[in-house]
Amino acid sequence: SEERSLNFIEEIVEEDIRTGKHGGRVLTRFPPEPNGYLHIGHAKSICLNFGLAKKYSGNTNLRFDDTNPVTEDTEYVDSIKEDVNWLGFQWAQELYTSDYFDQLYDFAVLLIKKDLAYVDDSSAEDIAKGKGTPTQPGTPNEYRNRTVEENLQLFEEMKAGKYADGEKVLRAKIDLASPNMHMRDPIIYRIKHAHHHRTGDKWCIYPMYDFAHGQSDAIERITHSICTLEFIPHRELYNWLIEMLEIFPSKQYEFARLNMSYTVMSKRKLMQLVNNNYVAGWDDPRMPTISGLRRRGFTPASIRNFCDRIGVAKRENIIDFSLLEFFIREDLNKTSWRRMAVLDPIKLVITNFPENETEWLDGENNPEVEGGDDSRQVPFSRELWIEREDFMEEPPKKFFRLGPGLMCRLKFAYIVRCDDFVKDGNGNVTEIHCTYFPDSKSGHDTSGLKAKGTMHWVSVKHAKTAEVRLYDRLFKVEQPDSEEGDFKDYINPESLIVIKDAYIEPDLANAIQQLTDFPDRRYQFIRKGYFCVDKDSSTENLIFNRTVTLKDGWSK
Ligand code: ATP
Ligand code: MG
Ligand code: MG
Repeated sequence: SEERSLNFIEEIVEEDIRTGKHGGRVLTRFPPEPNGYLHIGHAKSICLNFGLAKKYSGNTNLRFDDTNPVTEDTEYVDSIKEDVNWLGFQWAQELYTSDYFDQLYDFAVLLIKKDLAYVDDSSAEDIAKGKGTPTQPGTPNEYRNRTVEENLQLFEEMKAGKYADGEKVLRAKIDLASPNMHMRDPIIYRIKHAHHHRTGDKWCIYPMYDFAHGQSDAIERITHSICTLEFIPHRELYNWLIEMLEIFPSKQYEFARLNMSYTVMSKRKLMQLVNNNYVAGWDDPRMPTISGLRRRGFTPASIRNFCDRIGVAKRENIIDFSLLEFFIREDLNKTSWRRMAVLDPIKLVITNFPENETEWLDGENNPEVEGGDDSRQVPFSRELWIEREDFMEEPPKKFFRLGPGLMCRLKFAYIVRCDDFVKDGNGNVTEIHCTYFPDSKSGHDTSGLKAKGTMHWVSVKHAKTAEVRLYDRLFKVEQPDSEEGDFKDYINPESLIVIKDAYIEPDLANAIQQLTDFPDRRYQFIRKGYFCVDKDSSTENLIFNRTVTLKDGWSK
């Protein structure tokens, strides 16, 4: 890809390398919470963290931020690893915040010993009240004066399971009058009697995000800890804890998260779509998840190029879904094999073509490949399927396909002229009758005839059938999140159209076998868009997903 100027994080990293900070070492981390599948927003963070490390000869840790036992699961861990790898990145180490629970506990004990943390018995409500408001300082309660000895004993009892959920918390003792609400004695440990997907029942107290995240960064000696803008107010606490614990000085930097139109991006909302069966699963091709995009036919390169183009900024905006589609079109145009499929068939009969004859035509696989990308044989015969929309009984001017007396070229084949058509009792056209011109064959045309349009087609007696799934935006409004009511009320009812019996040229019936040798094989159904084989396909029941149409039908 072309040269672009440095983003602000690259500038910071280059400056750190120049001044020899951390000996010029670069270590980033990608820290997902395993409570759902990754989405395109995570891809931005992955490309940024792994991209930086790659560019500056550093490393990236994959750290599962698993401090919330109730919502986390190994299914999510596995999917996250698959997605990061698929995007083309390798982590230096696979780590889990839960592996640091002992160390984090010791850090908490150290804070207590320094009289920088205390056990508070107040209810969540009273703690919130005691913090005051942004314009009014908070007020210390009676627990704030507990002695170090008392706090040590209570915290140990919390760990030992003596108290119920919510009965006590451990708070950092910082400043109840701080202009930063996050510094007003934040909670750093809570009681939660719950089974953890890795530590089992060993713990009934769990560190809060703010106490686990920066400490994990320091334990791993992360040099650049990159997160999204909403963590700016947490930075002061991040630095305070590192300073008080006298641990490795990781630094936090914030960038704008990715927002996209016509979709939602929070795992909590995506989970609702899955659990309420609005979609077929996390990997439904309409989902903005990485697994959904993969199943839809997006390539890792298209997603990386997209992330590179949107860049890294300090201000949030909304990126149009069309931009992602631009990058997949660009990629697939170069690599996909051209094939013919008819999605809404009507029969065309070539009255001057012999009844039992088949002519095998040469069809190039991809004209965009320099020097050619080989070809396949396409059978041509007297009866063809064409798209219903390619015929009009009373065509307007400039309709370059078929209508009474009109001529059009059949892709890879001949020019035909429409002479007649047949209707059923209801007035629906059922058959189109044409004459073909033997001297107009593609590549050898000596007919002198002019046909402005070219149509795709499939020979009736050679056609195979397949299921074709056409996808559209999952939501019918740009920002389902900011509409009145529930975001699920704005789901696009036409986001999935299933065509059970599309006709495909015979070569396409080999699409599944093709995948064993060429797992990345994609197809352009001529004039219909880019398609991939769906994972639920079998040789008897072939299913194609439309990744994207050939042209952008939305931003006009
Ligand atoms: P969600 O709100 O969708 O559940 P999250 O931030 O809670 O996402 P995490 O698993 O905690 O999800 O995120 C892992 C990393 O991915 C974090 O560093 C987070 O900042 C980053 N990330 C999450 N969403 C986006 C986004 N939309 N754009 C850029 N980075 C993101
Ligand atoms: Mg989270
Ligand atoms: Mg979140």
